[in-house]
Amino acid sequence: MAQHPAWVEAFNARKPADRWFKTEWKPLLPDAAYARSLADDQAWYGPRGGKLPMMMGVPADDKPGPGYYNAVLRSPFGDQLALEFARAAIAGEQLGRDEATDILSVSLSAHDYINHAYSAESRISHDHLLHLDRMLADFFRDLDATVGKDNYLAVLTADHGFMPAVEVSQAQGRAAGKLSGTQLVNRVNGELERTFGVPKLVGFLSASALVLDRQAIAAKGLNFDAVAEAARTAAVADPGIAAAYTRRELESGSKAGAPFFDQMRRTWHKDVSGDVQYVLKPYWMHTSASSATTHGSPHPYDTQVPILVWGPRWVKPGRIDSRVEVVDIAPTLARVLGVPAPASSEGKPLPLPAR
Ligand SMILES: [Zn+2]
Repeated sequence: MAQHPAWVEAFNARKPADRWFKTEWKPLLPDAAYARSLADDQAWYGPRGGKLPMMMGVPADDKPGPGYYNAVLRSPFGDQLALEFARAAIAGEQLGRDEATDILSVSLSAHDYINHAYSAESRISHDHLLHLDRMLADFFRDLDATVGKDNYLAVLTADHGFMPAVEVSQAQGRAAGKLSGTQLVNRVNGELERTFGVPKLVGFLSASALVLDRQAIAAKGLNFDAVAEAARTAAVADPGIAAAYTRRELESGSKAGAPFFDQMRRTWHKDVSGDVQYVLKPYWMHTSASSATTHGSPHPYDTQVPILVWGPRWVKPGRIDSRVEVVDIAPTLARVLGVPAPASSEGKPLPLPAR
């Protein structure tokens, strides 16, 4: 499309994101219902704090600005907006109104922002999920009315889980911690300088990888693989690092079956990834100015996500206790639609209880 369809322009022209300015996000249930979640305003939330009810925008603002919009993004109002836009898409594109199957993908991302800011253990995250649950109930009721109860199949999943906040893990007696990237680079560089006599052979960190200074290695006539090996040895000595592999190993696959190696290889690319890729230990994260906690590890709290499929015309109610993956969703839907799975699909159809 060269430009947005008219229904998008109309949706945006109403400035739907502005209407919660100085509105409060209020908890849905009485306090006692959140007794098992982390209380508001934990010290590690940082200067912004975090408690319910939460005002969208600060009292000093006279109109919606970046602070307000960021607050909406980190609140149930962010999802409300996304679902309103989804409804506008269904109406504007006349989805589900003819013989051709339509696919609508909706990303409800507020929960990610909320968990980064307050952790998945927080009452704020707990309350957000209650709001989202009710919003989804409304959305499905609307689908029943517009598209028809037997005319759609819904799949719910998540692209990742979340690690417990380091402070929560430590309070529970787990070995957990934060790794400073700057300190890691300095320490590895110190070791490399002792071995090779050249300072700062690690240039920088990128996506949990040490990136070596190729120019310095070439200028000093050093062997790239030897420097990478030494950097790996120095990196895995860190108390927060579980495993690390060099470019040579990731390119050749020589460590197949070693801890985290196969997963790492699937996310590593020779042209754009670093030279010594590492995995943090469970319950460890990099220090961060912007996030109280995070995701992106190969550990179970990150990789175990729900997959729910609903569509009584195609799927019988039931529960499947077997190892399945998010990448199985695409070939499953392709099978339901009677079309070939996407060419680059790595999944296999889910063993759904068929009608
Ligand atoms: Zn995130």
